[in-house]
Amino acid sequence: MDFSLSEEQIMLRDMVQDFAAHEIAPVISHFEDNHLFPAEIVRKMGELGLMGMTIPPEYGGSKTDSLSFILALEELSRVSPTICLLLSVHASLFARGILEFGTAEQKAKYLPRAARGEIVGAFSLTEPGAGSDVTALKTKAVRNGRHYILNGVKAWVTTGSEAEALILFAQTEKEAGPRKLSAFIVERNFPGFRVARIEEKMGLHSSLTAEIALEDCRVPVENLLGEEGKGASIALHLLDGSRIGIAAQAVGLSQQALELAVRYAKQRQAFGHPIAEFQAIQFMIADIATLVEASRLLTYRAADAYDRGLPYAKEAAMAKLYSSEAANRVAYLALQIHGGYGYSKEYQIERIYRDARVLSIYEGTSEIQRLVIARHLLKDSSIR
Ligand SMILES: Cc1cc2nc3c(=O)[nH]c(=O)nc-3n(C[C@H](O)[C@H](O)[C@H](O)COP(=O)(O)OP(=O)(O)OC[C@H]3O[C@@H](n4cnc5c(N)ncnc54)[C@H](O)[C@@H]3O)c2cc1C
Repeated sequence: MDFSLSEEQIMLRDMVQDFAAHEIAPVISHFEDNHLFPAEIVRKMGELGLMGMTIPPEYGGSKTDSLSFILALEELSRVSPTICLLLSVHASLFARGILEFGTAEQKAKYLPRAARGEIVGAFSLTEPGAGSDVTALKTKAVRNGRHYILNGVKAWVTTGSEAEALILFAQTEKEAGPRKLSAFIVERNFPGFRVARIEEKMGLHSSLTAEIALEDCRVPVENLLGEEGKGASIALHLLDGSRIGIAAQAVGLSQQALELAVRYAKQRQAFGHPIAEFQAIQFMIADIATLVEASRLLTYRAADAYDRGLPYAKEAAMAKLYSSEAANRVAYLALQIHGGYGYSKEYQIERIYRDARVLSIYEGTSEIQRLVIARHLLKDSSIR
C-alpha cells in the first residue's frame, strides 16, 4: 500500500494548511469563546472550493478523490475541529447524499449553492429517544396531496440552526405497519420548521448543535430523497463514508496535540532542565506520535479503499474507532505534559482535550463501530 501523496494532493494539503493558519487560526478563538457560528470562514471556504470537494464540476464543485478530501479535513482539524466537522457534515453527508440519491432537479437546485458555500447543509437522523437505534425514530411523515406533513423532534443536529437545508429522516409507514424510514430534504424556511434550542456542549463551541421541532412541517413531495421507505439504508450508507472524515478529524486534532506537547516539553523547565529531557516525558511523546501515525494510516487506508471502489465500511469503522479513541488518549497525554497549565483555558490543549471527547460518540459510538466491524468479520466467508 503506497500512501506517498501525488503533487496535486501535496498542493491541496499545503493550500488548506495555509488557509487554516492565516484565515482560521487568528480568529477561531473568538467564535469558540462566544459560541458563534463562523459564517465568514464558511464564506471563504466556499470561495476556495473547499465546500464543494465532494461535488462534481458539472454542479459547480471541485470534487477530488477521497484521500485529498481527508487531507483537507485533517489540516482543518489541526486548527479547528469545529470547522472540520462543519465541512465533513456538509460535504460527506448532505452534498454526497443529494449527489448519490437525489433527482436531477434536487441536484440542480441544491448542489451548486452548496459547492459555493452559499448554503450549508446538515444531516438530521438522531432524536431525543433514538441515537444508536435508528429503528426507534418517532418523527412521522404523512403524505397529504403534494406534501408530506412532518411531526416530531430531531436532536443533536450539527449546524442545525444555521443550515439552509437538511437531509432529515422520518417514519413514513402507518402506525400498525413495519417501521420504514424515509429521507427528505427539508429547508429551514419550510412552514412548521423551528429551531427549538441550541445544546450547551462540553466542546466544539462554534459548531452550533440544534434541536429541531417539526410541527406540521410541510415538505413538498419533490423533496423526498431517494425512494420512500429506503431512508435507513441511505443513512447507513452515507455514515459509512463520512466516518472516514471523523477519523480524519481525530487525526488532525491528535497531530496538533502532538506538536503542542513537543513544543511545550522543550520550553518548560523543571529541576534545571527542559522537561523534554526526562524519559517519562519522552515516553509520552513517543506514545502520542505512535497513536497519531497508526490513526493516520488506518484513515488513509479507508479513504484509499473508497477511492479504489473497494469495500470500505469495515475499514471506515476501524479508522473511526481507533482514531477517535486514540485522540482521547493523545489529548490526555499531551495535557499531562503541560502540567497545570494544560488545565488553563489560556493553553490550546485545554480546548483540544474537550473537543476530543465527542469523537468516540458521534457518527456512531465506539460500541457501534465495534458491532459494525464484528458483523463484517463474522460474515466474511474467507475466514473459516
Ligand atoms: C456534538 C454532537 C453532534 C452531533 N451531530 C449529529 C448530527 O449532525 N446529526 C445526527 O443525526 N446526530 C448527531 N449527533 C448524535 C450522535 O450521532 C449520537 O449522539 C450517537 O449516535 C449516539 O446516540 P445517543 O446519544 O442516543 O446514545 P445511545 O444510543 O443512547 O447510547 C448510549 C450508550 O449505549 C451504547 N449502546 C447503544 N446501543 C448499543 C448496542 N447495541 N451495543 C452496545 N452498546 C450500545 C452506546 O455506545 C453508548 O455508550 C451528534 C451528537 C453530538 C454529541
